Amino acid sequence: MSRKGAKSRTHGRKLRLTGTKAKTRVGRARQPRADPEQQLKACRREIAQAREHLVKALEEQSATSEVLRIISNSPTGIQPVLDAVGEKAARLCDANNAVIFRLEGNVLRLVASYGEIPTTSHAREELPANRDTVIGRAACDRRTIHVHNLAAEASEYPVGSTHAKQEGHRTTLATPLLREGTPIGVILIRRMEVRPFYDKQIALLETFADQAVIAIENVRLFEAEKQRTLALAQANRDLAEREAKIRRLVDANIIGIFIWDLDGRIIEANDAFLRMVGYDREDLVSDRMRWTDLTPPEWRDRDERRWVPELKMTGSLQPFEKEYFRKDGSRVPVLIGVATFEEGGNQGVAFVLDLTERKRAEEALRDSEEALHRSEAWLAQAQRLSHTGNWVYNATTMRYLYWSDESYRIWGFDPLQGLPSRENMWQRIHPDDRDRVREKVQEALRQKRDFAAEFRILLPDGTVKYLEATTCHEFSSLGALVEAVSTNVDVTERKRAQDEHERLRQLESDLAHMNRLSMMGELTASLAHEITQPIASGRNNARAAMLFLDRNPPDLGEVREALECLVADADRAGDIIDRIRDQIKKAPPRKGRFDLNKAINEVIALAESAITTNGVSVRTRLTEALFPVQGDRVQLQQVVLNLILNAVEAMSTVEAGPRELLISTEQTQTGGVLVSVCDSGPGIDPDHLDRVFEAFYTTKSSGVGMGLSICRSIIDAHGGRLWADMNASRGAVFRFTLPGADKELTNSLRPAHLTREPHEDTVSDAAHQPAYEGNKRPHRSGRGRGQRRRGRQ
Ligand code: ADP
Repeated sequence: MSRKGAKSRTHGRKLRLTGTKAKTRVGRARQPRADPEQQLKACRREIAQAREHLVKALEEQSATSEVLRIISNSPTGIQPVLDAVGEKAARLCDANNAVIFRLEGNVLRLVASYGEIPTTSHAREELPANRDTVIGRAACDRRTIHVHNLAAEASEYPVGSTHAKQEGHRTTLATPLLREGTPIGVILIRRMEVRPFYDKQIALLETFADQAVIAIENVRLFEAEKQRTLALAQANRDLAEREAKIRRLVDANIIGIFIWDLDGRIIEANDAFLRMVGYDREDLVSDRMRWTDLTPPEWRDRDERRWVPELKMTGSLQPFEKEYFRKDGSRVPVLIGVATFEEGGNQGVAFVLDLTERKRAEEALRDSEEALHRSEAWLAQAQRLSHTGNWVYNATTMRYLYWSDESYRIWGFDPLQGLPSRENMWQRIHPDDRDRVREKVQEALRQKRDFAAEFRILLPDGTVKYLEATTCHEFSSLGALVEAVSTNVDVTERKRAQDEHERLRQLESDLAHMNRLSMMGELTASLAHEITQPIASGRNNARAAMLFLDRNPPDLGEVREALECLVADADRAGDIIDRIRDQIKKAPPRKGRFDLNKAINEVIALAESAITTNGVSVRTRLTEALFPVQGDRVQLQQVVLNLILNAVEAMSTVEAGPRELLISTEQTQTGGVLVSVCDSGPGIDPDHLDRVFEAFYTTKSSGVGMGLSICRSIIDAHGGRLWADMNASRGAVFRFTLPGADKELTNSLRPAHLTREPHEDTVSDAAHQPAYEGNKRPHRSGRGRGQRRRGRQ
């Protein structure tokens, strides 16, 4: 598209239209004159023509000035101008209609129209800006297009020509609206007949086009100006607001602010800053304050080397920490941000924050962190020593929040790998225990309570550990699990010790049993004798009864007494058998209150055979009315039996001297009982007095070395004490104590009871059985009336 002179056209056209061109036309009308008459005629014609031109020109001028008036009257509204331009153009150029399109991108949009416009044309409010229509071509070519008969120009304007045929217009004139040579729209006038426009009309249309451009440009400038004014107003408002904010900040005295210059002066400062450095306004006004003086030497150096150059270059400094001298010479730590008022300027503002409090808080925090660290270390140490680990699980995120060091150690996870997952943990629980633990956890969650269980874990290296876990569950108000805090104690060692203890206890019990059985073997003979004795006694009593019946008259009183003795004999035989059965069947310990004197007498009876065989004489010194003891009668009898048999065995190794055994019971000061078994055997090496209680310690070829160890554990289990001593003259003495059965009774004991002398050779019991005759061994068991009966025979 050739746009020759496009730029100058707008202004050039204006001049031509308003002056030059009009004058040229007037000038061309002058002709050479023939004669005065003709000249007059010609003059008149010329004058008439000139007048006609003048009228026309006036009319045109008034039309354009009217448009300009409209433009100046409606600076913000473009539409009235465009409407007026359309109307004047159609009327003054003697066209049937006029339209104005604006160019928006590649599209021409209808913005004003005047005259009879066919509806079909009116419907086309948008046209592509191409050369297929007259309007489009005027925009593309940036020049006025004058087509005499558009209907006949199908090849040149294929679209425009079709429209012309449909709508009936023929002569068409279009001129572009150019701003600075750039098309911003098109004005087009049409005639419904073939009647080309005059040059003048063409020039007039171009004038109107210029005016439309001026109107549009005016509005644009006006809009731009309006925007600028608005922006300026907004900027002023912002500035005022910022100023107000800064003022408030300064006045609020929350932050210290001062205005400085690079020479070191403080030109203005708020109260907060003055307070911070301990100066007053007086100092400020009298110019006694310089920021360079406030700065300690080591900071001043940094200020000069680093910050001043940076400030000069960038106009501001990122907040940094430094110190200022107070007036009293002390220092205040501050955070300071600095900016110059203008680039490269010598003055600026500084915002200063007092860090004293923060520093103090930081220090306190450091201290408390160090307390915390120490207690954490202690806790870790305590956890390590007690094999106790903790973890915290957040049920909302389904993740662990925390695992203590000891937890990691117990469960065998690597702390460097981060917190383990819940699944990792479940996998570590021993497969044989997993279901049980899972059920217990679920049950605890269902019942909204805490969880406690003992279970095993299996580590990847095959190690099995026993854990005691207690987990506290925290639930939300809706009952959902929020958090679980668990304590896991590694009880493996304890468990092993328990197992070992249990194993040893079992072994001990087995050995004790064996021991008892072996003792039973030894006792068999004695037992046989024991049982035959009450049977023989019974037989005697039965025979006596028969004799008393044979008397005439029969002595029924004696018969009755004899029969009662018979019953007692039978009972005694039964008791003996029961005891033997208990010993053999390894009966569990029976706890009960019983008379110890009586029990000892029974043991002596059991050991009778061994005692007699070895030629030992037995004495007893059993305290009368001894308080009952609490415990397993059979076990305690076993202790006594063991001590008796040991004594008998020891004495049997010594040929010389009498073999004497003394068994005594005493009430202790605390209401318990002291039992002594004293022999005249070889005694015990003083260095071995305690060793004899060690398991498997024996000096006998066929000994097991368990007897005394078992005795000690039995006495221990009864809350008593068993020990060995050297006898004053010769031999050994074994003593044991037992606590009293009745605490109340014990506590109410009076000193008279406590110091009661044992009644030598008297067997008595709480039931006040009659004393039996004979205090020297060998004696017969089965004391009581039967004995008397026998004696009476
Ligand atoms: P055992 O009888 O099988 O040897 P004990 O534990 O009953 O086992 O006794 C351990 C040892 O204590 C005996 O071998 C013996 O040396 C010593 N002993 C026990 N009683 C006496 C005693 N009355 N006089 C001397 N030594 C004794």
